[in-house]
Amino acid sequence: MNARTPNAAADVAAHLHSYTNLATHGQVEPLLITRGDGIHVEDEAGRRYIEGMSGLWCASLGFGHPRLVQAGIDALKTLPYYHTFNHRSNPAAAQLAERLLALAPVPMARVFFANSGSEANDSAVKMIWYYFNAIGKPGKKKIIGRDRAYHGVTVASASIGGLAANHADFDLPIDRILRTGSPHHYRDALPGESAEDFATRRADELEQLILNEGPDTVAAFFAEPVMGAGGVIVPPPTYFEKIQAVLRRYDVLLVADEVICGFGRTGEMFGTTTFGMRPDILTCAKSLSSAYVPISAVMVSQKVHDAMAANSGRIGTFGHGYTYSGHPVAAAVALETLKVYEDEGILAHTRALAPRFAQGLATQAERRIVGNMRAVGLIGALELMADGAARAPFDPALKAGYQVAQYALEEGLIVRAMGDTVALCPPLIITPAEMDELFARLGRALGRFEKTL
Ligand code: PMP
Repeated sequence: MNARTPNAAADVAAHLHSYTNLATHGQVEPLLITRGDGIHVEDEAGRRYIEGMSGLWCASLGFGHPRLVQAGIDALKTLPYYHTFNHRSNPAAAQLAERLLALAPVPMARVFFANSGSEANDSAVKMIWYYFNAIGKPGKKKIIGRDRAYHGVTVASASIGGLAANHADFDLPIDRILRTGSPHHYRDALPGESAEDFATRRADELEQLILNEGPDTVAAFFAEPVMGAGGVIVPPPTYFEKIQAVLRRYDVLLVADEVICGFGRTGEMFGTTTFGMRPDILTCAKSLSSAYVPISAVMVSQKVHDAMAANSGRIGTFGHGYTYSGHPVAAAVALETLKVYEDEGILAHTRALAPRFAQGLATQAERRIVGNMRAVGLIGALELMADGAARAPFDPALKAGYQVAQYALEEGLIVRAMGDTVALCPPLIITPAEMDELFARLGRALGRFEKTL
């Protein structure tokens, strides 16, 4: 093994890592990324990789877009910080809020700013509780999340999520959180159950859950349009239509978590549009600034806003907000990001490339070791199986997904393995030629893994 660089040594000795096996970090060796340009990033040793995941599903404009860099520099020079408490604001925050309302997939009334997807979702939970207190229904507080969901890692957002690692030994979930099944047809359908029948069953289960708990106690349902970290789960046709009919029947609010899907990922500006959702609250982050600076947003409908406003009038303030809510540098970079999406026709580009992306995945899915392939817009995944045709999974001890991701890394491609699901979520600026190169590398990685079996 090469000697550890000073940065790697510092990382191992001093850095408590996010979402990493802390016990093995020193043995695995950190991968230090030092620079990026376009769809590529480079490590300390000068090796270049196609960032097939846009980092964590976020750097939609790739690494080093000059307009975003300039927007950040200009904002830092003009007003490096100000806050939004006590009626204070700054031009970038005000303009960004206005722009987001104009882009919103359903009519929304106000935009609240935070710094991360987790904070946006935690804020949404608090707004929901505040709202039901405001309208005189203090007993209506339970929040429904789904198996395999990911909404972040703060106390409430992790609780609503359905991934075991986010709960185990963190004493989560907190109370008032309920869980229902995920729309993973490939994994969860009964033998022979059609996609539509499966969607009907999921809606029936949701209704039964609400009835069992008592509709007067159930406040909201959180849903990612496409589930990301749970395995890129694209909902089956009719799913959201049926789910929303149930929510409407029992006056349960819908929160669309657009943290991954927002800003073009599915080929529409929001996944909400792709899947016909009518959320009361929408959270977004990541591609809002192409991840160049931390910023997230919560959009609320007129109904929710008006009740919250009346309640804060009674209390004297809306007692929620962050030091960095509406940060002028973050807001300026986000504003520029939204302009770049428009000026560079990112949405049309994404739609034009989506068939090539789906085809690239479909070609790899012909391998015996792929059981299922999913894609919408420029997000997709392959679900690995020991025998795809027989739907026989790999022994988890083999860590098939991890192995493929490691081979991909050696081939110069960063993908993400979630169990034995290998995800792709490339920067939206990827060109057709770069896309073909991405799949060539993925194909070599899968081929090398196949040969070891
Ligand atoms: N919601 C979704 C759908 C996400 O994918 C993520 C992050 N992967 C989050 C929320 C949390 O965002 P953050 O890591 O910025 O807190």
